Amino acid sequence: MPADSIGTATPAPPLGAEYADTASAAYRAALQVLESVEPRIAAATRKELADQRDSLKLIASENYASPAVLLAMGSWLSDKYAEGTVGHRFYAGCQNVDTVESVAAEHARELFGAPYAYVQPHSGIDANLVAYWAILATRVEAPALAESGVKHVNDLSEADWETLRHKLGGQRLLGMSLDAGGHLTHGFRPNISGKMFFQRSYGTDPETGLLDYDAVAAAAREFKPLILVAGYSAYPRRINFATMREIADDVGATLMVDMAHFAGLVAGKVFTGDEDPVPHAHVTTTTTHKSLRGPRGGLILAQPEYADAVDRGCPMVLGGPLPHVMAAKAVALAEARRPAFGSYAQRVADNAQALAEGFLRRGARLVTGGTDNHIVLLDVTSFGLTGRQAESALLDAGVVTNRNSIPADPNGAWYTSGIRFGTPALTTRGFGTADFDRVAELVTDVLTNTTPQGSSKAKYTLADGTAERVRASAAELLAANPLYPGLAL
Ligand code: PLP
Repeated sequence: MPADSIGTATPAPPLGAEYADTASAAYRAALQVLESVEPRIAAATRKELADQRDSLKLIASENYASPAVLLAMGSWLSDKYAEGTVGHRFYAGCQNVDTVESVAAEHARELFGAPYAYVQPHSGIDANLVAYWAILATRVEAPALAESGVKHVNDLSEADWETLRHKLGGQRLLGMSLDAGGHLTHGFRPNISGKMFFQRSYGTDPETGLLDYDAVAAAAREFKPLILVAGYSAYPRRINFATMREIADDVGATLMVDMAHFAGLVAGKVFTGDEDPVPHAHVTTTTTHKSLRGPRGGLILAQPEYADAVDRGCPMVLGGPLPHVMAAKAVALAEARRPAFGSYAQRVADNAQALAEGFLRRGARLVTGGTDNHIVLLDVTSFGLTGRQAESALLDAGVVTNRNSIPADPNGAWYTSGIRFGTPALTTRGFGTADFDRVAELVTDVLTNTTPQGSSKAKYTLADGTAERVRASAAELLAANPLYPGLAL
């Protein structure tokens, strides 16, 4: 399908355009203050903006937050300790943090239609850890509580905890394999989730690269996990969460969905019905900084029976909450409730389609043959390259991506055979489907002009003039879609 036949939603207004003058003044003042204390930090901050403005950012997990979100983080809210929950803190004087946390949680509940939201996690990994603990505490504790006659986890004695510690051992977790696109926190060794649980993973169909629900169901029936995890970092397709819930129910598992990558598509109502995880999952975790376009952080949505245990995230698992970041989450969630965000999310998906079609028309091979979310996973073995070589050559030409494993990757997890592309960041800048078709052309130009050096999996040669040619074309695209237009520092 040619790029311009894809139905792109109306462009959203440029990010922060309506208050660009005020934001410019605020940043100029802030940088002036920094310069007077540590000029190297002021310089690096300015340089980062220039670098971000000048590169084609295609990293699927990154985005550009609005100046309102960024400004919300630069305040004295940062100075406040507020361990505990709203109205129940271990520190005095938390009335304003209570307001901030309540507003952020209210926006999260309303935006996602969730009965309960916890906005304290400092990152996606932290959110998953809190969720795992909460599921263990809620599910495994029940028999221990019944035996000891206590009603609530807060009333457990030290002896009860001792019993619980034994009962917690030996629990099982089933999640998507790393090479199919799962995340380290879904039970893999370098993360504590791979040490807390006996883990097994489900992959994708070797022919189609698509999730095989019958295989997931068979693995669940055999393994009988306490937790079935759905969600991904690099799978370029949608998931049917109603089916995943049926699989979980069939074996008495808790369904936990990690929507870190696609939360923006859920918020913008691109994923609805069976593709919206929130009504189907017992617990849903996410980051707030990827497609959701908020500050770096995490968030948990849960059904009421898990709320008490999730609320104990701090201090059980997390350090003191970051009130300034919760303020920025509230701002980002408020932005995501506006109609313009729905239009943005639809464009993210349309642009991914255009990028995929652009690659396919130029003869490239894509994992699963395409996309229906915000990710495109290119198999670079079709160019005779490893992921490492392709990533480096693209960076030489000003195209920022990351290498990624593909299913049954012949080059392993370090060199890899794939490049993962994501559309959220450039869509924020205003890129449309025709621009993404052009991106496919530029990427193809780089990769067809890259050759491996001997048998090395890392070294490569980029044909003379390629980097300059691609950088010049990219500069035109970037100039036509400026980052933070009107923000003059
Ligand atoms: N979950 C998924 C699916 C992710 O892709 C990521 C990050 O890449 C995380 C969790 C971890 O998020 P964070 O880096 O904020 O800890």
